[in-house]
Amino acid sequence: MRVNRSADTQRRTGILREMGLAPLWKLRAVAPQSTPSAMPVQAVVSADMMEAPLTDSERLAAIAAMDWQALHASIAGCRACGLCEQRKQAVPGVGDQSADWLFVGEGPGAEEDVRGEPFVGQAGKLLDAMLAAIGLKRSEDVYIANAVKCRPPGNRTPTAEEMVACRPYLERQIELLQPKLIVALGRPAAQTLLENKVKISAARGQLFKYRDIPLIVTYHPAYLLRTLSDKAKAWEDLCLARRTMRELKSVNSTKSAKPN
Ligand code: URA
Repeated sequence: MRVNRSADTQRRTGILREMGLAPLWKLRAVAPQSTPSAMPVQAVVSADMMEAPLTDSERLAAIAAMDWQALHASIAGCRACGLCEQRKQAVPGVGDQSADWLFVGEGPGAEEDVRGEPFVGQAGKLLDAMLAAIGLKRSEDVYIANAVKCRPPGNRTPTAEEMVACRPYLERQIELLQPKLIVALGRPAAQTLLENKVKISAARGQLFKYRDIPLIVTYHPAYLLRTLSDKAKAWEDLCLARRTMRELKSVNSTKSAKPN
């Protein structure tokens, strides 16, 4: 007779898998009672035992408790939406994990899918130039992530469902980073962060908030490569971001200079 795992055990395995702590050695079955007691208990690693699906709230709770390492492992093995089917690898994010600046793009393209790092193609070169224009480098005080961590086939825009499935990862990245300022690059990034429909031409130039963190919206570098005429507006947005960061830092230094 096979012994079924309890729902609790299944959930626990699922949570561990989400946290990148599976696979585990598990007892798959015990010997039937009618067989001689000398018959050994069979201990095998069984893929089906790793597949205990989590409920949505269990998945959210597991992700919300992850550290960077567990988060990256979970993203690497994620199968929460169809984008996992065609990816070469997931692309979690790159940069300084205590950065004040967070830039969020749309999703990996072909080169990012191969290299496992966001913004390494043509759009990435422009992003690097945009960062340099305001005195930033991708590895120093800057973290770069995407709304979805796996490449949408043919570089199509991720669907709303794909962004919702991936959002807990972005939320956890923000929670771990605690950036002072977020810059959303393009409409999908702005929409997933603001949980609202956004038109970049209308939203740019304003200061939004993601939870308590100031957020600025600007054009995606890939769009700017196609629409040179909007580069000046993106430059204005970057200047707004730089000004906002200076103000945030000066408020913080005034606060820390105050006597208790
Ligand atoms: N475009 C994005 O939005 N993200 C990348 O990582 C690359 C291109």
